[in-house]
Amino acid sequence: MTVSGRRARQKKETPFGAGAAPPAKRESGARAEGAPPRAALFERQDGSPLRQSADSARAAARREPDAAALLDWYDRHRRRLPWRAPPGERAEPYRVWLSEIMLQQTTVKAVIPYYERFLARWPHVGALAAAPLEEILKEWAGLGYYARARNLHACAKAVAARGGRFPDDEDELRALPGIGPYTAAAIAAIAFDRRAAPVDGNVERVIARLFAVDEELPAAKPRIRALAASLTPASRCGDFAQAMMDLGSTLCTPRKPACATCPWRAACAAHRRGDPEAFPRKAPKAGGRTRRGAAFCVLRGGAEVLVRTRPARGLLAGMSEVPTTDWSVDFDESAALAAAPRLGGRRGGAASAWRRLPGVVAHTFSHFPLELVVYAREVAGATPAPAGMRWVRLESLEGEAFPSLMRKVIAHARREWPEFARAAAPTRPQSPSRHASARAACRLR
Ligand code: SF4
Repeated sequence: MTVSGRRARQKKETPFGAGAAPPAKRESGARAEGAPPRAALFERQDGSPLRQSADSARAAARREPDAAALLDWYDRHRRRLPWRAPPGERAEPYRVWLSEIMLQQTTVKAVIPYYERFLARWPHVGALAAAPLEEILKEWAGLGYYARARNLHACAKAVAARGGRFPDDEDELRALPGIGPYTAAAIAAIAFDRRAAPVDGNVERVIARLFAVDEELPAAKPRIRALAASLTPASRCGDFAQAMMDLGSTLCTPRKPACATCPWRAACAAHRRGDPEAFPRKAPKAGGRTRRGAAFCVLRGGAEVLVRTRPARGLLAGMSEVPTTDWSVDFDESAALAAAPRLGGRRGGAASAWRRLPGVVAHTFSHFPLELVVYAREVAGATPAPAGMRWVRLESLEGEAFPSLMRKVIAHARREWPEFARAAAPTRPQSPSRHASARAACRLR
């Protein structure tokens, strides 16, 4: 996992999902509905049988993390998430894949409304494969990391071409667009119950603490992966993978881990040392330098805004935006208008026609922070769009594939430019959850 190590799941959540009531408590040791008898549940990695009660007792005595103890905890406290199958059932590969792609770098809370909209609109991989990419990008808008949406489409097409069936093997899954080692392991484990150990930022933290791994990240990753694999049982691999994710999300949080209620407390080396928050060790990060630039909001005839589409490759590829200058660490604002769109035949038009709005729009990408100043200008209704740009009616702006950055720019113009605010007809209302999701996703970037 990168950067944030799936900060998504590092965010603390209730053990039962947003607004969900706790699951009915089963007696300790009771098994999930439909699950095989407990005695048959566990095997060591070498295939030898593991009798839960005796092995749990021995593991506790040896202070080793025990899969059975974690699965018992999971049976009682698993989070209820829309992409998860009920206890004892196998999750659909399409749902697992879709959720895992969306969850990369994004919180569970932010993903849920997007996931539900995608599933309602494209209920199976064939439907998603047949959808135009522009429609997928529009539905994805606000979730960030837009390369994921393009890979999602490419992967759906590849799976549709093989009859709509996802492979159940990690290597074959990794050959598909947008599926890396973590996602391949997660799909193999959760959708196919293959013995695979998906290690995201949450799992990395749990393992680093359990074994008090002193080596710093990212150098420690191979060791942490090996330790995670060594804990994975031969059965209920999908449940075990999700149990690890839930433990990292709900108890073994980055700050103030809830060790008192952790099923692995007795086996946890960092807990015994009394400094779990000191793990995982991290090498100091070199932060990207702030880039700056200008964005140009042009209002035509009080009804339309000038928009263009970004190039098909690179940052925010294929997304919509209002025109901007280049973004650079040595941006010179005094020269910004030289890069303004050519309107009425003159680049930028008369400098006096532009109005510099107060304040800046700040946004953080994974590898650099960005600050944009915003220039605003009105033009007459018949003004043609410069080459490569187009006019979009104010009431249609919501349907554009704007990334979060551009939504911030437009919100800024609405706030700071009275003419724009007056002209802006009430746009299609977004659901509160969509706004909240976009904001949550923004904070991660
Ligand atoms: S005992 Fe504490 S630090 Fe150790 S795995 Fe459990 S929650 Fe994390």
